[in-house]
Amino acid sequence: MRRPLVAGNWKMHGTRQSVEDLLLGLNGQEWPEAVELAVAPPALYLQQCGEALQGSPIRLAAQNCAWQAEPGALTGEVSPSQLRDAGCEFVLVGHSERRTLFGETDAVICRKFAAALACGLRPILCVGETREQMEAGQTADVVGRQLQAVLEVFGVGGLAQGVVAYEPVWAIGTGLTATPEQAQDVHSMIRGRLALLDSDQAGCVQIIYGGSVKADNAVDLFGMPDIDGGLVGGASLNAEEFGAIARAA
Ligand code: PGA
Repeated sequence: MRRPLVAGNWKMHGTRQSVEDLLLGLNGQEWPEAVELAVAPPALYLQQCGEALQGSPIRLAAQNCAWQAEPGALTGEVSPSQLRDAGCEFVLVGHSERRTLFGETDAVICRKFAAALACGLRPILCVGETREQMEAGQTADVVGRQLQAVLEVFGVGGLAQGVVAYEPVWAIGTGLTATPEQAQDVHSMIRGRLALLDSDQAGCVQIIYGGSVKADNAVDLFGMPDIDGGLVGGASLNAEEFGAIARAA
């Protein structure tokens, strides 16, 4: 009943030329109909991607948005309404790089989630623990707290309008992937928590995994019952590999 989602997070990579090459590679492939697909280029290239991906099943995602839905005096920010205007369907909120390098708190992330929903974007709420937190056995507490900030305001029904991405910080960009069993444990813990609040809606929430997803580990990860696809960083910069990951979902 849950459609898998595979989204590529290009982070702060690319030039107009390399984006054009990547888009050519994406457009040259057959995409599985059963899988939702998205790419999140740097904001500067959203327009270019939107134009090139017209007619493709690949949707546009932004990597971040302002905490205010509508345009205003927020120098350097992009509003969710502007992202919508540029053709985005999704936006990442609370990516670990935003949390750690830009000081985004759960409260800020919740405001961004709200602003995105208000504009009809589907926010992809990223959660995940650091290596120290994992080693201290705090994964459930940390992820629970990150989710709680949004659940308190929106409930499970609101969360279900977006997507949850579990991305253990220790697995992002490190080549260290969580094992399928490790990831499944956290995904099922997340779904279990949601089910305590609303058992019907909990089954509808897409929970995707991120952290060094590659073509050669995607099949095993996506084969787990509570892993509904992936958020792919580095490997999404290669069109062939992104295609292979999408077909694994
Ligand atoms: P990675 O990044 O696939 O390069 O580990 C994932 C992410 O940051 O979303």
